[in-house]
Amino acid sequence: MTEDNSQELYDRALSVMPGGVNSAVRAAIEPYPFFVRKGEGGHVIDADGNRYIDWVMGLGPLLLGHDLPEPVQASIQQKASEGPMYGTPTPVEVDLAEFVVRHVPSVEKIRFVNSGTEATVSAVRLARGYTGRNKVVVMQGGYHGAQESTLVEGDAENPRPSSAGIPQSFAEHTLPVPFNDEDAIREVFDEHGDDIAAVLTEPILGNYGIVYPEDGYHEFLREITDEHGSLLIFDEVITGFRVGGLGCAQSEFGVTPDLTTFGKIIGGGFPVGAIGGRAEIVEHFTPSGDVFQAGTFSGHPVTMAAGLETLQFAAANDVYDHVNGLGERLRSGLTDILADQAPSYTVTGTDSMFKVIFTREGPSGVQRTPEDASGDDREQGPDSLEEQCEAGCRQNATCPRYDYCPKNAADVKNAETERWRRIFWGRMKDQD
Ligand code: PLP
Repeated sequence: MTEDNSQELYDRALSVMPGGVNSAVRAAIEPYPFFVRKGEGGHVIDADGNRYIDWVMGLGPLLLGHDLPEPVQASIQQKASEGPMYGTPTPVEVDLAEFVVRHVPSVEKIRFVNSGTEATVSAVRLARGYTGRNKVVVMQGGYHGAQESTLVEGDAENPRPSSAGIPQSFAEHTLPVPFNDEDAIREVFDEHGDDIAAVLTEPILGNYGIVYPEDGYHEFLREITDEHGSLLIFDEVITGFRVGGLGCAQSEFGVTPDLTTFGKIIGGGFPVGAIGGRAEIVEHFTPSGDVFQAGTFSGHPVTMAAGLETLQFAAANDVYDHVNGLGERLRSGLTDILADQAPSYTVTGTDSMFKVIFTREGPSGVQRTPEDASGDDREQGPDSLEEQCEAGCRQNATCPRYDYCPKNAADVKNAETERWRRIFWGRMKDQD
């Protein structure tokens, strides 16, 4: 294997891969992403010899960390040694399907695919095929993978593609509404109710500052979708087998969607996605129904073995207590640092999910944590950058309100991120 360091690898990557990466978000680290050679327990070691505490855990899939317990490791190796795949069904996919059906309230039947994106693509197609309707309601700030139906921004009146390459005519079938806003949902149902195939939402918005639903919001979504004959789809690609333990976030909230999408953890660190739900709906997938769905690698034996062993290990051990305890420790450590340095900044999260909000105003108009949802008002920054700037100068860097000026928002964001990177790194690098 090459001995090149991260910078050398990135230079090589730039000449053969767009942006030097295989997934856009990986290029977010500046000036270049660090290239990881291997993981060890809760750490990763990069091509430059640095050892990092890994808070990312593969962007979610690695419930058990990098050093997989012996039974998980053995099962993966065994499967890989038996010929990687066959293009036919295998016993282990039935075992994993039965495990998910046993534990997740909404899932009577399930189909495995290869990524969270593929899961949400198929779920939307299934909802449209089942209901014979076209439109899908999504939450502003939600994320459901790199797919045409959900890479849409704006609002229900003016939806528009959020990526080049998606025709406006596709975006018109998607209705983005603010999360936690019941009136906005009522309005879209009043206007488009007969043509809404589904409301698709993450149970907790994971990609937008970890936004927690207000009390009763999911119940409201359940009722209004039932009333209008639309489906409720929970995208549990992040929260599945992470929030709420083996029953997933839906068991925590006590609301059962019609369909659930999975990814990340159910593959035990290998590429995976899945669509589960009421049997009567999921049976509409081909070959039993007429909603086409297929995939060469779907239900891959190594992935199924890794996923099954991971979940069985979690079921037999106190894995959730452990990782959720680590999440709590991390959130409270970060909160302590912020309390010293800037009380209006916020650490959000639940279970093992966490995020630091690096803006003074935070996401506005939404509840962010279970505590916020129950009415615990924490200290907030100014209501909006715009409001602060009205009182001060707009572009002069010597202005005391420069930091709040919307015209300088990009500079400020970069400078703030850098400042916090230094503070967190300084405070946490010695704490293992
Ligand atoms: N849905 C949610 C909620 C996600 O967070 C993601 C990815 O992070 C996806 C879907 C897409 O999953 P994948 O990246 O496996 O395609």
